Amino acid sequence: NNIPIGSPVRTRAIINRYFVKAKKNLGQNFLVDQNAILGIVEAANIQSGDQVIEIGPGIGSLTEQLLLAGAKVFAYEVDDSLPEILHNELPKKIDGEPLEARFKLTLKDVLKANFEKDLTGFFDMGKPIKVVANLPYYITTPIIFVLAESDLHFTSLTLMMQKEVAERLEAKPGNKEYGPLTISVQTEMNVRLALEVKNTSFMPRPRVDSSVVVLTPLKDKPAIENRKHFIWVVKMCFSQRRKTLNNNLKTLIPDTDQRADLIKKLDVDPRIRPEDLSIEQFIEIARNIPSN
Ligand code: SAM
Repeated sequence: NNIPIGSPVRTRAIINRYFVKAKKNLGQNFLVDQNAILGIVEAANIQSGDQVIEIGPGIGSLTEQLLLAGAKVFAYEVDDSLPEILHNELPKKIDGEPLEARFKLTLKDVLKANFEKDLTGFFDMGKPIKVVANLPYYITTPIIFVLAESDLHFTSLTLMMQKEVAERLEAKPGNKEYGPLTISVQTEMNVRLALEVKNTSFMPRPRVDSSVVVLTPLKDKPAIENRKHFIWVVKMCFSQRRKTLNNNLKTLIPDTDQRADLIKKLDVDPRIRPEDLSIEQFIEIARNIPSN
């Protein structure tokens, strides 16, 4: 079949043939725009032999183009009606290899993934791994957290997400989008906006527009001793975004004098709001709050 899965005609045919009903609660919006799909493949800079984790292959629109670009794909999916469709509709052979040698699907929630265990046997674990996905938008942030905090060292994450979340990833101090997600990601990764995609590129259309973001690990990461503790402190500092730093610190440091000491040490106005603090200042705050 020469018509790509990610085209309106072929997607409609698949939907009719298998009585597919896009499941809203699973964030199913299938890509039907080759420009967008090839844009993602290009943003991920897929080369022959690349090992790619795909989250949510759906009916295979993006998977197909990843495979044709030469990738070996391991996919996480939760909808158990999809493996049959993917098996039938993806190309039977790619570069002379059977589909099974190039594509493996696991019916598992990506948020519960054990990457090391899941991938061993299919991927060469000594070689780089990329993540590419048109994410299910109802869990975009938890997925990014799981990937950012994972022990696997990904070379890049190329993720399509709702535009509003992409803005949070990119945000600078002082922006209203700046928050725990921004800080968690920017202390680990470089954020690049690769592509904007209109909602007309999907079937069914999501209510929001989308962006493709490429995240790559930072070469020089800021020194953070205990990341779990750091993220927790940042989240606490933002627990009431509209309130001052001094107010937000009350749960972390109940003692008024101790709190005043820290704020003095940071050399900031106690009335400053968390969104105006730099990443370095959050690191300094975390350093001064004991972990238990
Ligand atoms: N990749 C396809 C495309 O681009 O047309 C489908 C993308 S669709 C936006 C998101 C996909 O993620 C759906 O296939 C959905 O079933 C799947 N999904 C939803 N929750 C998931 C989870 N927790 N783990 C893995 N996949 C999930």
